[in-house]
Amino acid sequence: MIDFNRPPYTGRELEYIRQAVEANKICGDGEFTKRCSAWMKENLGTKYALLTTSCTHALEMAAYLSDIQPGDEVIMPSYTFVSTADAFVLRGARIVFVDIRPDTMNIDETLIESAITEKTRAIVPVHYAGVACEMDTILALADKYHLKVVEDAAQGVHAYYKGRALGTLGDFGCFSFHETKNYSMGEGGALLFQKDEYLERAEILREKGTDRSKFFRGQVDKYTWVDYGSSYLPSDLNAAYLYAQLEACRDIDARRMSVWELYHRELRPLKEAGLLEQPTVPEYASHNAHMYYIKVKDMDTRSRLIGFLHQREICSVFHYIPLHSAAAGRKFGRFHGEDVYTTRESQRLLRLPMYYSLTLEQAEYVVDCIREFFHFDGPKE
Ligand SMILES: *Cc1c(COP(=O)(O)O)cnc(C)c1O
Repeated sequence: MIDFNRPPYTGRELEYIRQAVEANKICGDGEFTKRCSAWMKENLGTKYALLTTSCTHALEMAAYLSDIQPGDEVIMPSYTFVSTADAFVLRGARIVFVDIRPDTMNIDETLIESAITEKTRAIVPVHYAGVACEMDTILALADKYHLKVVEDAAQGVHAYYKGRALGTLGDFGCFSFHETKNYSMGEGGALLFQKDEYLERAEILREKGTDRSKFFRGQVDKYTWVDYGSSYLPSDLNAAYLYAQLEACRDIDARRMSVWELYHRELRPLKEAGLLEQPTVPEYASHNAHMYYIKVKDMDTRSRLIGFLHQREICSVFHYIPLHSAAAGRKFGRFHGEDVYTTRESQRLLRLPMYYSLTLEQAEYVVDCIREFFHFDGPKE
């Protein structure tokens, strides 16, 4: 069986977990948490990076730190994971969904300005498949209307926009280290930001509303309850697992990229024959091979293809059901303008197996089965 996903394991994870245990420190903000933060600072050029228990929690922190109040409006695509919206709904925001671009499945930056009202407080670009949104346009709009930009870079760790790491361009960037993402700690994430002014409140929010982070640095002699907060810091055991992955990032990237490129190269003749569509990577983006998807004619073709692949022991999956069409989406948000692409494109997109330990032979077999499904016997490139 070729799974859709397998969590990455690169070799040093258990050794690092053992070191954390032997250091008698497995709670949050231990040695490995610090090393993960340092890695993000060094390799992604972010000023601050706080490890969190999930990307969902990083988004919740970003919504709180952006001072979102009940009734405020937040602009985002409808084609995304629920957490993108949920984090802001928790603060009482109304979600304003904007259509996507069919080439990248990212928010259509040219439609954002007309969705801005007096109540708008933030724009949340989602870098789908690790392919950057058109950030210059989004940042210019945020500047013009004094809006916060919260990047949902769950899929965009170690991917770039015009040479700048995703997650470092907006006010806040949110990463995921869930087991389905490129680098993993089981469940986990990170909150990135560049401005000093966010640091103190972010640390307090993450540490149950206390100034414990200051206490550990010796800046105060006892710690107390100073503000609203929750528990957003992960165990150092999880951070130990992640650190091994971050260290092995070149190996992880290279393996995923070789599978991505094989799919892209070998499915091209089917695209040229008009049987399917392939992802587009604009010139301004360098992606991280987070995902490989194809688009087929319609939902019916997709269902048949999923079944066909399943019979051949290949697991392929689709997502997302557009948020504006879900019960909570209707309750907490509205779609601005016309839904030209969101629903239509989401119904015909199919994700192919993609993970660290997937071999090129397995990817080749996936391609062969897709060719068989379409009765395609053209050249293979
Ligand atoms: C995976 C994902 C999330 C959620 O990440 P968790 O770490 O599981 O909370 C949020 N947004 C997008 C776009 C994702 O792909």
